[in-house]
Amino acid sequence: MLEKVTTAFSDIFRKIGGKASITEKNIEDAVEEIKMALLDADVNLRVVRRFVNATIEEAKGEKVLRAVDPGQQFVKIVHDRMVALLGDSKTDLRLKGPDTQSVILFLGLQGSGKTTSAAKLAARLLKEGRKPLLAACDLVRPAAVEQLSILGEKIGVAVYREDTKDAVKVAKNALAFAKKNGHDVLIVDTAGRLQIDEAMMDEIGRIKKAVDPVETLLVADSMTGQNAVEIAKSFDEQVGLSGVILTKFDSDARGGAALSLKTITGKPILFVGVGEKTEDLEPFYPERIASRILG
Ligand code: GDP
Repeated sequence: MLEKVTTAFSDIFRKIGGKASITEKNIEDAVEEIKMALLDADVNLRVVRRFVNATIEEAKGEKVLRAVDPGQQFVKIVHDRMVALLGDSKTDLRLKGPDTQSVILFLGLQGSGKTTSAAKLAARLLKEGRKPLLAACDLVRPAAVEQLSILGEKIGVAVYREDTKDAVKVAKNALAFAKKNGHDVLIVDTAGRLQIDEAMMDEIGRIKKAVDPVETLLVADSMTGQNAVEIAKSFDEQVGLSGVILTKFDSDARGGAALSLKTITGKPILFVGVGEKTEDLEPFYPERIASRILG
């Protein structure tokens, strides 16, 4: 996870971190290397420019140049800026109390890991004492309903499904079922497509209206880098997102999506998928990820 970007930063910091005194030129050189490392990590150009300019401005201040340990001061500035880039602090799911239903809508392109992540989140909420219900509203990908049913059985979470092509109806009926049977969280898996299209957005819009979710989460594949950020922007503009789950983070050596998402879309990353198993979903901690990248 993030091996490539981590290696790049450890090289940069090895050079500047241990210096007893540094010059403006040292800072400029280090920032230039950081710029290349971020671009190489597939971070959005606008994000890179902003990061670099802000770092230079802060690092060239007297406080750093005159510090006893200027190299370390510089590293700290980069670290803090990296945490801010990743979203500052952990963002929690905004669930209502257990006496009512909190609906979480899952969106995303086919293959992004939507169905798997829906089950992972259900497993997590079950462990936290919630009583989740999964709604199988991906009626486009042939095996999606069956896949969700199998996952539900494996993790011990009920799956609401119907033999129909009307996803809005399934979502509504799933919510009624949840109310009747005391499920306090309803996770709705919706249909993706290979790419963004109008029919998908229209269906998601109607499902959203029908179930009034507390969270509308995009499931995006971190391996697609900046493309994941573009997808998030489109979904947000067309249906409105509250946050993002970044999948396949275990295989993402570069980190471009994670590092660009918040700045470009304004939406927080709530969880990352770190494997194919149902327990492989972790809350996203900006501080920890920044420390991992910067060594
Ligand atoms: P959907 O079409 O969006 O519902 O995608 P799926 O949930 O079926 O996932 C597509 C593939 O990605 C499956 O083979 C999953 O096992 C895999 N996958 C999902 N999340 C992760 C993850 O976080 N890490 C890894 N390594 N694989 C994942």
